[in-house]
Amino acid sequence: PPGQPNTGGLLGRVFGRQSAAPVVRRPLDDDMLESLEDLLITADMGVQTAARVTANLAEGRYGRRVSTQEIKEALAEEIARIMEPVARPLPLYAKKPQVVLVVGVNGSGKTTTIGKLASQFNAAGKSVVIAAGDTFRAAAVEQLQVWGDRAGVPVMTAPQGTDPASLAYDAHKKAEEDGADLLMIDTAGRLQNRADLMEELAKIIRVIRKRDETAPHNTVLVLDATTGQNALNQVEIFQKIADVSGLVMTKLDGTARGGVLVALADRFGLPIHAIGVGEQIDDLSPFDPEEFAAALTG
Ligand code: GDP
Repeated sequence: PPGQPNTGGLLGRVFGRQSAAPVVRRPLDDDMLESLEDLLITADMGVQTAARVTANLAEGRYGRRVSTQEIKEALAEEIARIMEPVARPLPLYAKKPQVVLVVGVNGSGKTTTIGKLASQFNAAGKSVVIAAGDTFRAAAVEQLQVWGDRAGVPVMTAPQGTDPASLAYDAHKKAEEDGADLLMIDTAGRLQNRADLMEELAKIIRVIRKRDETAPHNTVLVLDATTGQNALNQVEIFQKIADVSGLVMTKLDGTARGGVLVALADRFGLPIHAIGVGEQIDDLSPFDPEEFAAALTG
């Protein structure tokens, strides 16, 4: 269905044609557990998480005859249990402007996600200012302006090559003068030169803190679900660069790799603020653990 992650259909592959008949029972033996574990790994859940989920599933069921339906429900329950604690929307504070730093590799969906979030906040009556902090990529700035127009939110830009920290400073000043509720700062995502990127983000944070020593209030890492296990590496890298406070997972529409979210939750426990389920402005959904688990298990 639209608005939902499309990651399903795992179980049919274990039970084969029998899955058409959910009442058919087979003993839950090592073979079945192994097939299940393989499928979870195929769905990008990662080896460790897949092993843990499978072990939990076997508890109290091993050797019993189980139906597809029973396994499906138990698996969904296990997954939802892991995801429950991380399903948390971006927290909103009384602080004005609340500074949200948005980080992630180029192409992950930062610009799009900022546009979608700005639109949601705007619709909820929150005034937003966007800072186009990837000042080296003219296309990124243009794209952000397009999203700002769509969302009805002002976008602060600066000539190509301007120091992003100086733009962030000016944008904070404007946001404060305007009485804006939120300042969302887009950042560069060139991982090719990690030292430069680290220095650039550190400087943005340093400079923003001259205006508000409690900022940034959120550092949101945007991850592309289609990169699968690579998303785990990106969390590790960005945690070294910035104090990541939460995640948005994009492109969960039409990928079979949604299991990576389970691996992320299991390994890092970072809040998942929202999921991207398409390219349009309304294609950003709150993360719902039960719906996600149901979609993943099919
Ligand atoms: P950035 O370089 O990180 O700012 O990435 P962009 O926001 O420019 O997004 C890169 C591409 O991914 C664009 O073509 C977007 O339309 C697409 N995109 C972003 N989010 C989603 C999503 O949730 N689903 C889909 N299908 N595409 C997305």
